[in-house]
Amino acid sequence: MKIKGFQGTSLLDFPGRIASLVFFGHCNLTCPFCHNPTLVQNPDQYPDYPLEELLAELKSRSRFIDGVVISGGEPTLDSDCIVLMRAVKALDLQIKLDSNGLRPDRLALMLSEQLLDYVALDLKTTPTRYGELHSAPVDHQALGKSIELLMQSGVDYEFRTTCVPGMVTAADIDAIGGAIRGAGLWVLQQFVTEQEMIAAPQVEPYPKEVLYAYRDQAREYVKEVMLRGV
Ligand code: SF4
Repeated sequence: MKIKGFQGTSLLDFPGRIASLVFFGHCNLTCPFCHNPTLVQNPDQYPDYPLEELLAELKSRSRFIDGVVISGGEPTLDSDCIVLMRAVKALDLQIKLDSNGLRPDRLALMLSEQLLDYVALDLKTTPTRYGELHSAPVDHQALGKSIELLMQSGVDYEFRTTCVPGMVTAADIDAIGGAIRGAGLWVLQQFVTEQEMIAAPQVEPYPKEVLYAYRDQAREYVKEVMLRGV
């Protein structure tokens, strides 16, 4: 199991809940604006966090945390992620999954075992533009399958788009919106530049007025749109 990080508690990452955070290494994308580049490009520089140790930590916190956020990297790439989820559920803790949605087979298994309480699924741009996020071809149709699975699952979820100039334009908002038409919640996040990125785009974040306009545009497609970081 390639667990590469553990963070005690956070109020921010699991809506309405106090959670611990677990990070898996590796990803099947290399988004230029990735905020966890070392977890994606060089995860083996971090030692694997032993499962038993992690479970003992979670158990000791279980009286004051509600759940665990499983993030990355892309956690669904590790087949052992589901082993961790089963163990977390055995501790009677809730699970939020952060995912890029490119492994619908794994998502389907997690849903069928009722391991997930909340899913944040990233929609980075128009699905047919996903080739711009990786050096190898990307099966963007897999994303469509994950979207469908999630919308039919009955599990709480958010679709999440970081509005990176150039990757997310008004046309992309329409294309993404069309792919999730009728969904519950779509979160539009402000892009924040950081030094540690895979290939930091030489762009300034959009002025907030652009985000407000995107929010209004996005409302045509889903029940609720939320702005984050604006
Ligand atoms: S932003 Fe997410 S999907 Fe993209 S490379 Fe980073 S971890 Fe992977």
